[in-house]
Amino acid sequence: MGTIKLSRKALEHNLDIIAHQVGGKDKIAVVLKDNAYGHGAVMIAEAAAQYGVKQAVVRLEREADEIRDFFENVLILGDRPTKINSTFSYAINSLEAIETFLAGSRVELKIDTGMHRNGIALCNLEEAFKRMKKAGLVCVGIMSHLRSADTLSSEWFWQRKTFDTVKIKASSLAQKYGWKLRFHLSNSAGTFRSVVCVDDMVRVGIALYGCLEMEKTLAQPSFKPILSLWGDRVATRTLKKGERVGYNGIYEASADEVVSTYDLGYANGLDRLASNRYTTPEGIALRGRISMDNAAFSSDKDELLIFDDANHYARSVGTIGYEILACLDKDLKREWIS
Ligand SMILES: *Cc1c(COP(=O)(O)O)cnc(C)c1O
Repeated sequence: MGTIKLSRKALEHNLDIIAHQVGGKDKIAVVLKDNAYGHGAVMIAEAAAQYGVKQAVVRLEREADEIRDFFENVLILGDRPTKINSTFSYAINSLEAIETFLAGSRVELKIDTGMHRNGIALCNLEEAFKRMKKAGLVCVGIMSHLRSADTLSSEWFWQRKTFDTVKIKASSLAQKYGWKLRFHLSNSAGTFRSVVCVDDMVRVGIALYGCLEMEKTLAQPSFKPILSLWGDRVATRTLKKGERVGYNGIYEASADEVVSTYDLGYANGLDRLASNRYTTPEGIALRGRISMDNAAFSSDKDELLIFDDANHYARSVGTIGYEILACLDKDLKREWIS
């Protein structure tokens, strides 16, 4: 199977930019959901913790279990507590969910500031506080999520403004209930929309991994992708002019051509839509259909760089780097370089 190589230098470079932007490492929460966007959750958790990051975000409790020893707090975005753990906090995404959480759990209330995906409406804030108290929960944070911080429009501004209102209301309610809250709104793009960080924390995923793309008119920090994907050669042959390679023979050699198969296919996260149209960063063309466990390239290299920037691969299939990364096979070998 192919290999994922991770650059520790790039990770530290990206964290330097983020820490500088938000005014220190203490405000950084690294988003490690979905196997750290395919990078390998434990490896990234360990490296981020070594750098000095103390907060992490995941989707599931079992993901939090894997990385709990590296952080002071792990926020779980989409799961219910099955146990009480002083390192974990759980996002509450709706009013009705409150009563389904274990008494004694540490929770963070998500407010809908305009994305209309998850979270409770601002007008239900007081009721949510009452219900959390009655359910025996301990509220430790208030959060929201931005829907289009990567594009230049008024949306970031009004979500930001709504969240500022939330902060004032929630702070005064928290005093009444004796809860100490932290407030966080921004994802990667949001983190780079304003010069000062006015919240207690930012939740950075794609910027950490070096694949944040902002709209051209917005500031574009110079992140470096951490991850590169490599294939090992399986077999090499020379296609004679007119011969075809792979399922349905969709690629026909227009002259004699050396092609090799590499040990990666769509089962490993190589989106099949890239068949016959992708070219690697070294200018090597993908030939024919991507199979489940193989793909053919116009090369005889023993080890072939498939991509070193997920956004580049993503463009060839009409999607975004997030999806390419998150779909990378968990079983791929992962190793640190540099
Ligand atoms: C995934 C996620 C993030 C991170 O988003 P990026 O754009 O990768 O920085 C932040 N907050 C929440 C709630 C998320 O689900």
